[in-house]
Amino acid sequence: MRNDFDQELALAWLRAAAAAVEQRHEELTALDTAIGDGDHGTNLRRGFAAVTAALDELPADTPPGAVLTKAGSTLIAKVGGASGPLFGSALRSAGAALPAPAADLSALADALRAGLVAVQKLGGAVVGDKTMVDAFEPAVAALERAAFDGFTLREAGALAAEAAEAGARATVPLRARKGRASYLGERSEGHQDPGATSTALLFRAFADVAR
Ligand code: ADP
Ligand code: MG
Repeated sequence: MRNDFDQELALAWLRAAAAAVEQRHEELTALDTAIGDGDHGTNLRRGFAAVTAALDELPADTPPGAVLTKAGSTLIAKVGGASGPLFGSALRSAGAALPAPAADLSALADALRAGLVAVQKLGGAVVGDKTMVDAFEPAVAALERAAFDGFTLREAGALAAEAAEAGARATVPLRARKGRASYLGERSEGHQDPGATSTALLFRAFADVAR
């Protein structure tokens, strides 16, 4: 059983994430049509297709941190919407924080915490603002707890995915305070946030490959 986040797992994660986005982009766009401008699925689909292509070009000895950094830079370059720079910064900061050649669960949790901090620095959102942070924060917290409790990467991945999905569901009743959805005021209530939903999808992709 694998218990370190290495190059193979980094590549598998991003490719699984791209496949999940490809499969569910219409659902993400429908969510963004309700409380945004209806481009979230299209944005991420274009971004992750470019990520997949960029990963195919990486040298064979690229460490896992540089894999994430490359994916992040690609998202920033290819996605026009708010989510591109936000997810891109998250991946770049997480990648920069990852040790080579492999990270244990505790180091991975620390790196993803650094990614979340980058999102919050850039976007100014906190938990409860009805953004991707509402899924990202509980997922990182679950990884940190799992590391503290001595869980395996596989167990931690499942816990993080569940926490992110619960966080995304919990955005439904909230009123958006950041991003485009905040322009709607109380009319943003009753809809699940698209970015929190895609964040949960990314953590579910991680859980699927971390085994
Ligand atoms: P845009 O809003 O520019 O059309 P997208 O539709 O791709 O970009 O992404 C929208 C998602 O981005 C939202 O659902 C939300 O989760 C996330 N988002 C927007 N603004 C912020 C912010 N300031 N902080 C964190 N996440 C944000
Ligand atoms: Mg949008």
